[in-house]
Formats: sequence, structure tokens, C-alpha cells
Amino acid sequence: MRLKQIYNHKNTLSFRLTLWYAVIFTMTSLLALSIYYYRISQITMENTDDELIEEYREFAAIMVHEGTEGLMSEFDTEIIEEAEENLYFRLMSLDGEILKSSDMTDFKGVTVSAEALAALKNNEEYVIETLTIPGLEFDLQAIYGAITPTIIFNMGISLEDNYEYLSIFRNLIILLLIPLFFIAAFIGWFLARHALKGVAEVTQTAIEISKGSIDKRVEVKRRSHEIDTLANTFNSMLDRIQTLIKGMREMNDNVAHDLRSPLTRIRGIAEMTLVGKGSMEDYSEMAANTIEECDKLIEIINTMMDITETEAGVSPFKSEPLDIVELILSACDLFDPIAKEKDIQLLTVLPESLLISGDKSKMQRLITNLLENAIKYNKQGGTVTISVRKDNQLVNIQVEDTGVGIPEDELPQIFERFYRCDRSRSLAGIGLGLSLAKAIVKAFNGDIRVKSALDQGSSFHVTLPA
Ligand code: ADP
Repeated sequence: MRLKQIYNHKNTLSFRLTLWYAVIFTMTSLLALSIYYYRISQITMENTDDELIEEYREFAAIMVHEGTEGLMSEFDTEIIEEAEENLYFRLMSLDGEILKSSDMTDFKGVTVSAEALAALKNNEEYVIETLTIPGLEFDLQAIYGAITPTIIFNMGISLEDNYEYLSIFRNLIILLLIPLFFIAAFIGWFLARHALKGVAEVTQTAIEISKGSIDKRVEVKRRSHEIDTLANTFNSMLDRIQTLIKGMREMNDNVAHDLRSPLTRIRGIAEMTLVGKGSMEDYSEMAANTIEECDKLIEIINTMMDITETEAGVSPFKSEPLDIVELILSACDLFDPIAKEKDIQLLTVLPESLLISGDKSKMQRLITNLLENAIKYNKQGGTVTISVRKDNQLVNIQVEDTGVGIPEDELPQIFERFYRCDRSRSLAGIGLGLSLAKAIVKAFNGDIRVKSALDQGSSFHVTLPA
């Protein structure tokens, strides 16, 4: 990747994830290697101490087997020869007076440790010290050990080898970190790309949609829970937007088609009254007709808005506990005078009460629309029966009438906006009541069906989740 490309990518999530991964991975490796290094340095020092203790014990053993003389001769012959530039041996009295010593030219600054001698006097078997001697490049590790009550063995060893060994190790760690960072960045980049693949697909779909392909959807491929949730949420958001657009388009068509006629009528009434040079009564009649047509227009517009909003789910429904029986009974009270005018009997088959969770005003509109139709399209002296029952987790509401009925070929259309059956056009209505009823039922995840027999009556059956 060239520098310019990296610069362009630096604000992307995958770049940041890669960088985070690489940094965290490298830091963790550094921490692990540091712990390892610390442990190694401890072990190296412990080995040096063991070496010193072993030497001291060997001398103590010679003392036991060969006595002071054997010890002295051993020191003269072997030990002094054995001493090298990074090693010295000394024998001293309890007061620190040197009895015998290897060549100390390379260890000029080395003195006798008063603390060590004091500790030995206090019956310590041996004392190990780390000495930093001015003029010596490396520290020394020294042991003081009593081999007889009066003779002290002292041996010092330069830590040069240890430091060199550890510095090789340190350099190796630093060298390792560089390729480790790049390997981690590569793995991080791969993981980030893999994890964000779904996001990239959602983005791609969003780009295509913004260019006009509103029908496109993100494929749900069971990638990971988060991405699938994102894809599902995105798709359902698109569904809603599409429904809203569809609703708005339909509304446009409907406005053009169905609002034109009442407006034309209003204009006609006004024109005729003006041209006719009418009396005061004519003007009053014109005003009354205009108000009536305007009310109808307002009702059409309001109902269309309600349908579109309900279908698109833009205004959230309340989910409150409500007694459907109580709601039906008050609707019956409301329609009772109208039913009586047509000598229609309103019958109910209801339980004592039935609680459901829903939006009260929407439920009222659903029930009144069905009840109003059952009375309006009924015959003189007919009956309307409204019944409710609960089956498992479903609430069934049935509105049955003994009216004019609906021709079979028109049944599928009655839920469409502005559809009115031929034989009912003479009656008042705007053809939106059932569209709204269906939109409400759907919004509650329910279902509405109709059965009808011509001249015998119709039965509307609503099923809602309890
Ligand atoms: P509106 O009643 O205002 O015309 P609706 O959407 O409520 O509009 O009904 C659409 C059409 O379905 C009505 O015009 C009518 O022809 C028919 N319809 C609805 N309910 C009944 C019914 N109970 N009996 C007979 N026809 C009905």
C-alpha cells in the first residue's frame, strides 16, 4: 500500500482496527518477552550464586578432609592457577586480614566487606554480595563463607558473561518486535476486513439505493449476529421507507383522482350561484353545500393520512391494556340511535370482559368502521351481531349483518382505497373505512377476512393477538 493510500485509509474503521490490533498485539508480546527476560536474568544470577556456593562448599570439604594445611596447599597449587581475569579467590581471617589471595591486579578496588564479616560472625553460613567497583566495567558477584571458625573463604566473579548473554537476549527481543508488529498488522488487517465485510455490503446497498434502486435489499448470510442484525434492521427500515413512498405515491394518485371531484363540485355550486344571480336562500344553500363538500374533503384527507401513517408505522402505536368488551359496548351505544332509525337490531355476544393490549383510539376506529358499514349496508328491519371470543392467544371479533351483501367478484377489492361496490354508491361514504381498518389490524399483527352472500348479509372477521 502506498503512503497516499494509507493516508486516505487512515480514517477508516478497518485501518484503526488494524492499528489497534497491531499495537495491542506488539505490546502484549513485549510484556510477555519482558517477563521472560526478567526470569532469565534471575536464573542467570541464581546460577552464578550456585557456582559460588559450590566453590565455597568444595573448600569447606577440603578443610574437613585435609585440615588447614591441606587447604592452604590446595589454594597455592590449584586455585591460584585457576583464577582468571574475571575471577578471584581469597582466604582471610575473621577480622578481614588477607591470608592468601589470587592475583588481584584486575580487581584493585575490591576491599573486604565489613557487613559480610559481621554477618559471618553472627553464624551465617555464607554471604553473597553484588559489588559495583569504580573502574570496573561490570559488577562482581562475591561470596564470603566461613570454612573454619577463623578462616573465611572469599571468591568474586565478574558478571560480564551474564550481562553479555542478557544483552544478546535484549537485542533479540527488540529485533523480534519489528517483524511481530508487521505480522500483527497483517493479521489485524485480515480480521478487520473479514469482520467489516458485512458492513461494506450494507454500505454498497445503501449507495445503490441512494442512486434509485429502492427495491434492493442486503442479503442476510448468517455472517455474525451483529452484522445480520444490522442487515435485518436496514432491510426493515427500507421496507418501511418503501411502504411510505408507495403510500405517498398512492396518495398523490388519489388526491389527483378523488379530491378533484368534490373540488369540481364546490366550484360548480359557486359558479352556478354567481351566474344565476340568486337570492339570499340560494347563497345560504351554496354555503351549506360548500361546507358539506369541504367536510367530506377534510375527512378524505384525514383518513388518507391516517392510513398512510398506520401502514408506514410512523406514529408509534400505544400498547395499553384495554377492555375490548367495554369498547364494543360503548360503540354500540353510539350507533344505537342510527340503528333504531332503520329499525335494525344491534345484538352482542360478549364475555364479561376481555383485556387486550392495544391503542384505544385505533381500536375504536376499527370497531366503529365495521359497525357503521354493517348498519349502513343493512336492510330495513335487519340485524347486526357483534361477537367477541378468545381462542388460545387470539382474540376473534366478528361483525355480522343481514344486509345487501357483497358480490363475490368485488370481495377482493373492498379493502382497496376508494373502492366502493356498485350497488352501494348511492349511499354516503368515501371508500376508505375498510382500508383504514385493514391498516390498523395489520399494524397489530392481526388479520381481517370477509365472507358475504348477496342479499343475505356479510360477516367481517378480525383476529388479533391477545
Ligand atoms: P365506505 O363505506 O365509505 O364506502 P368502506 O371502505 O368502509 O367505504 O367500504 C368499502 C365498500 O365495501 C363499501 O362501499 C361497500 O360497497 C362495501 N362494504 C363494506 N362493508 C359492507 C357491508 N357490511 N355490507 C355490504 N357491503 C359492504
